[in-house]
Amino acid sequence: MPELPEVETTRLGISPHIQGQTIQEVIVREPRLRWPVPANLKDLLVNLKVDSVERRGKYLLFATSKGTVIVHLGMSGSLRILPADKAALKHDHVDFVFNNGTLLRFNDPRRFGSILWTTDPVEQYHLLKDLGVEPLLTIFTGHYLYQKSRRKSTTVKSFLMDSDVVVGVGNIYANEALYMAGIHPQRQAGKISQARYEALVSAVKEVLQNAIRQGGTTLRNFVNEAGNPGYFKQQLYVYGRADMPCKNCLTPLKEIRINNRTTVFCPHCQK
Ligand SMILES: [Zn+2]
Repeated sequence: MPELPEVETTRLGISPHIQGQTIQEVIVREPRLRWPVPANLKDLLVNLKVDSVERRGKYLLFATSKGTVIVHLGMSGSLRILPADKAALKHDHVDFVFNNGTLLRFNDPRRFGSILWTTDPVEQYHLLKDLGVEPLLTIFTGHYLYQKSRRKSTTVKSFLMDSDVVVGVGNIYANEALYMAGIHPQRQAGKISQARYEALVSAVKEVLQNAIRQGGTTLRNFVNEAGNPGYFKQQLYVYGRADMPCKNCLTPLKEIRINNRTTVFCPHCQK
């Protein structure tokens, strides 16, 4: 499933090709995505220029003078830059053709992705308005997590993965960040000190930035049909390493489930 780093890498990969370009044609082969693609999407978009390609959480936002295209990759979606005459393959559901001959193609085998349109200020859009803070912005601080977590009896891992609190900290990144910060994933969110939340915030930023940096090496995948951004192969401390020795103290890592999600931690290093 594309996580925040993959979405950010997608943004970095496609924006040089479509930012400032005018949409010439929109082809919807399959409107039945997670939510229906607007039936009049072509009429809405033709002759509009994409002023910028932004990201909010895992939503990509193509801003135009009339409104915003909101794209979510769902479980299996991808966006690819191709020559405009490239034949469509299975699961190539939507094409945006630009006047510079660029084709932006949305492929999604499982169709949990979405392509939506709003003329409202995009931050007011119902899917976006309640999202928590962006983890890579300076407003995401230890103080923020400390304040948000008071009187919360949920585990710190569930708290960190709650998109009403902070967006884009998926399961792998939550596991890694808690290990890096030395925090036991089952600890109660409301009982963690501000200093420890500061360490956690640093770890979250580091693990996400590392993933985005590694994703940079896959940017060429956006301009050919063969590559798939997929998961980034990165050095992981705990995720996928249950029963293997902790890289710090050699204690075997333990695997449990929290909210039905695989959780791996070091019983010695994480308190
Ligand atoms: Zn350890």
